Amino acid sequence: MNELIDHLGLLSNAPGISGQEIEVRRAIRPLIETHVDNLRVDALGNLIAYKAGQGTEGLRVMVSAHMDEVGMMVIDHTGEGDLRVATVGGIPDRLLPGLTVRVGDQAIPGVIGLQAIHRTDRSSVNKAPSIDKLVVDIGATSRDEAERLAPVGTAIVFATTFETMGSRCMGKAFDDRAGCTVLVDLLRGGPYPFDLVGVFTVQEEVGLRGAQVAAYAVAPDVAIALEGTLADDLPKDEADVSPTTALGRGPAITAMDRSYITPPRLLSHFMRVADAEGITYQIKQPGIGGTDAGGIHRTRAGVPSITVAVPCRYIHSPVSVLREHDLTACARLVAAAAHQFTPELVARP
Ligand SMILES: [Zn+2]
Repeated sequence: MNELIDHLGLLSNAPGISGQEIEVRRAIRPLIETHVDNLRVDALGNLIAYKAGQGTEGLRVMVSAHMDEVGMMVIDHTGEGDLRVATVGGIPDRLLPGLTVRVGDQAIPGVIGLQAIHRTDRSSVNKAPSIDKLVVDIGATSRDEAERLAPVGTAIVFATTFETMGSRCMGKAFDDRAGCTVLVDLLRGGPYPFDLVGVFTVQEEVGLRGAQVAAYAVAPDVAIALEGTLADDLPKDEADVSPTTALGRGPAITAMDRSYITPPRLLSHFMRVADAEGITYQIKQPGIGGTDAGGIHRTRAGVPSITVAVPCRYIHSPVSVLREHDLTACARLVAAAAHQFTPELVARP
């Protein structure tokens, strides 16, 4: 198995909802610490890795990937010892009933309760209950026991274990552990012709929060956000089947999304490098989603930013699927583009 897939598996299995990314940070640290000059954690929990460059004096590039995943948080307990929960980040309620989960630091196994079909009236048998009607069962038999095992604020993640299947692999949180995997690879490589600041950010899923404060501290000249983005290449009912991105077509480069617009000189740099290196790539269809680049580019007096992503099916669900080829090609493209960075990419023409 290649190293990228090993790392993706390791990071995918780590639990880390927004605001509670400590296990992901713990998993990343040993992979990069001997390859960087300085490693620190800021007040919100961003892991910031500094790698000195060779060549261009004073050019600083921030490359970010978010550690947090969508999940749930305990908000209350029932008299019977079940947990009431709220989603953290965007998860449709209809996905939840019947799922198995892991609760808290001890990874206590749990089940999101589902009324048996026998007790469900016909009119609602195919309707999804909203999350405030669901409880998580962790085997506790009283409110006291539930409060002790999983107090308010406890994190809940999907109980999904990483697996490979042919040329693809599946696991939870590829958004954005795929990006974290590419950033780990970038930091293990180099040096580059500029100072590289790799930032594993927190709280992207709830509003690009970690990236914003990290970018303020780092004050980069230019930024690259690495992502696991949506691949909606499944059969559709409508006549138009052009997907946002598709598996197998290589890394997806963003020209524009809801959160920012890529400066044309950065976009053409990545496209030119991909062509020269023989890396097939796709342009993510505009107008959908947002990334850390949306937070970073508005920091201080502005930071030219771009997003490069690994297409992943079924993101923001218990399990996503990606192609090994797309992950490898994304890492190759980002490294090649970095090696060919010049100060002219930053300067306004
Ligand atoms: Zn993401």
